[in-house]
Amino acid sequence: MKPMKLPPTVLPLLVAILTCFCGRITFATEALTVASDFEGASVKVIEISEAARSVSFTPGGDAARGWPCWWYFQIKGLTPGETITLRLRGSDSTAPLPAKPAPKPLASSWAMPKQATFSTDGRTWRHSENGTKQDEWMIYTVKPDAASVFVAWGPPYTPATAAKFVSEMSAKSAHAKREDLCRSREGRAVPMLHVMEGDLPKEKRFGVWVQARQHAWESGSSWVAQGFGEWLLSDDADAAWLRQHAEIFLIPIMDIDNTATGNGGKDARPQDHNRDWSAEPHWNEVIAAQRSVGGLIKEGRMDVFLDLHNPAPGDPTFFYILDNDLLKEPMVKLRDRFIELAYGRISKIKPLIPMSNQPKTTGASYHPLWRQISGNWVSMNGNPHTVSLCLETIWNHTNSTTEGYRAVGANLAAAVREYLAERPAR
Ligand SMILES: [Zn+2]
Repeated sequence: MKPMKLPPTVLPLLVAILTCFCGRITFATEALTVASDFEGASVKVIEISEAARSVSFTPGGDAARGWPCWWYFQIKGLTPGETITLRLRGSDSTAPLPAKPAPKPLASSWAMPKQATFSTDGRTWRHSENGTKQDEWMIYTVKPDAASVFVAWGPPYTPATAAKFVSEMSAKSAHAKREDLCRSREGRAVPMLHVMEGDLPKEKRFGVWVQARQHAWESGSSWVAQGFGEWLLSDDADAAWLRQHAEIFLIPIMDIDNTATGNGGKDARPQDHNRDWSAEPHWNEVIAAQRSVGGLIKEGRMDVFLDLHNPAPGDPTFFYILDNDLLKEPMVKLRDRFIELAYGRISKIKPLIPMSNQPKTTGASYHPLWRQISGNWVSMNGNPHTVSLCLETIWNHTNSTTEGYRAVGANLAAAVREYLAERPAR
């Protein structure tokens, strides 16, 4: 049989058709879409530009539920390896009060880290390159090697993350129990890790309380809490000592409702979680925490209380404390010793995580509701030897990553052990 001969004009035509067809398959771009129908998500899309392959947006939070600076969403329809541009503007959401002048929107700098955070699998979070400021916009680019990408203000830490962490720790160790601090006003469980090892009776144990995320947007503080828990349940001999000599309560997320709904939490109505430590708290988490901490105080063993936060964009301050003249000895001396030990450890991470060893004070000149700040409430209502502090971990830095935050938590836990080992046994 003779091979079929194509006329000379047909072959180039065929090649042209195939090239065109294959070109379409290889290079066609899908339309970009934004998804925010998942826990912790927050975004208000302004524009999706197919031509520029960009998404313009603001954080999506409602100002009545806290500072609208948190953003977290998913972009779909990507060609793996293509560069996507994120154009971020500050939120204009405000929460006016009756008979008060209209409030100004939150300064956009709170929403604009130097680097955006992104992930293609929702587990491993990476920083983008530094963003660039263009008038009111912050512009980031990401180049994910996947058809979709999660982008966020910082590494997200949602109620599901907290539940998973607490469950994993209690499965891993016989000395850790998953408990719930309480149910929130919206009915969500607030996971808590409760740690004790050995037969030492409770009354002979130091009481250690660690809570994060009274402000929902401060996701880094939950990663610090997780780092604390991971070290505490590690094979380190010092960690074992702490488990054997203390009873430790660890709550990775206090304001679970605003965290779940992607709201900021800070200055939420009717009041901020960390201005709620009054005789009649509004939030269930604060009621429950006050009750448990109050129990430790009654037993004379409220030894270390740590309230974990992320600070203002450029604030390198490490600890926030109550003014010395509002406290009695030995509280000041013990607190300063703890700061010395903790700073000595955490500052080793410098210059990766620069922090100032000069604490800021949170007395009357700091806020009109200063008495209702958790750290202050515990200082003022605690035992004479209670060490009560707020730790602010910098968020706008190259190492404000899951690894960096967890390293701070691990070092903080090691400092708690070192400090308590110096204290007389009960
Ligand atoms: Zn805070």
